[in-house]
Amino acid sequence: MTSAVEFLSVSRHYGAGAHVVKAVDGVDLAIPEGEFFAMLGPSGSGKTTCLRLISGFESPTAGAIRIFGEDVGRVPPHLRNVNTVFQDYALFPHMTVRDNVAYGLMVKGVDRRRRHARAEEMLALVHLPDYGGRKPGQLSGGQRQRVALARALVNEPRVLLLDEPLGALDLKLREAMQDELKGLQRRLGITFVFVTHDQGEALSMADRVAVFSRGRIVQVGTPAEIYDRPATRFVADFVGSANILSPDLSRRLGGPSGWSSLRPEAVRLAGPEARVRGRVTGLRYLGLGTRVAVAIDGADLVALVPAGTPLPSEGADVGLSWDEGAVHRMAGEP
Ligand code: ADP
Ligand code: MG
Repeated sequence: MTSAVEFLSVSRHYGAGAHVVKAVDGVDLAIPEGEFFAMLGPSGSGKTTCLRLISGFESPTAGAIRIFGEDVGRVPPHLRNVNTVFQDYALFPHMTVRDNVAYGLMVKGVDRRRRHARAEEMLALVHLPDYGGRKPGQLSGGQRQRVALARALVNEPRVLLLDEPLGALDLKLREAMQDELKGLQRRLGITFVFVTHDQGEALSMADRVAVFSRGRIVQVGTPAEIYDRPATRFVADFVGSANILSPDLSRRLGGPSGWSSLRPEAVRLAGPEARVRGRVTGLRYLGLGTRVAVAIDGADLVALVPAGTPLPSEGADVGLSWDEGAVHRMAGEP
């Protein structure tokens, strides 16, 4: 099956010589049609540049990009059947919500009555019927984000690019919009490429996640694969703050001999059957549980103790245990 989006050894470098910035550096990628694909990585890791390469506002310095099998090297942005939703919405403040949503159709020469009817359909889709006559300034942040979404969807793109679209919303609204976006993507069947630096957002929404670091993809997989079997120390630390065990420590604790990760929620306080003992150096209350930091010989381990379990006090001597297999061997690279 042809992929919706394909990167073949794509690079985008800026400048040259000693001052070269490798914004995107040798990325290979295949996103099947209909997938909810997340690009996850810290700020500056090349996510936005990847989206701009797909939309055509940026060109690769090496490699090729295909959209539904077609090499788009010479295809201008407006002919790519791709739309972008930005974090800052980029709505026209002087236009009504309806005209904002209908804008793409106006550019295409669709007559006023038809484009307004389509705009109203899109507004209903994003749960904003009856808001067409307002100006963007009369809406809340969450409502403006929905208008931006409707404005992108009215063009019936085959691929929708979303660049940190929920970043400006408060937590509660962000979570509601995550569910809504996911449902919308399922119903419409459009391929979504969703950029975020928020690991929880990527894991909860995406079918597959690509983890970016310094312009490269360090791992691609389902949320469970990324979380349970991080490929590198970077992924283990960036996604879910795992305990990272050096080869020596891992061996001493009975795990594999190599860089390994151990999720805090897999570590429990234990009595005589403990695998290791140590001293509690800190407690951090998180609501669902408490992160308990324990200094063992030569390292620190963190256990996530579920709410309702009795907590040790700081300085106490405790035992820690985990199931066989909870220690996951990583590739060993940074
Ligand atoms: P992200 O979206 O993951 O935060 P970006 O793709 O925006 O990262 O940027 C990746 C890197 O490329 C950063 O170091 C950024 O400063 C650099 N960069 C992006 N655009 C340009 C540009 N037009 N000129 C020079 N450097 C750029
Ligand atoms: Mg960005």
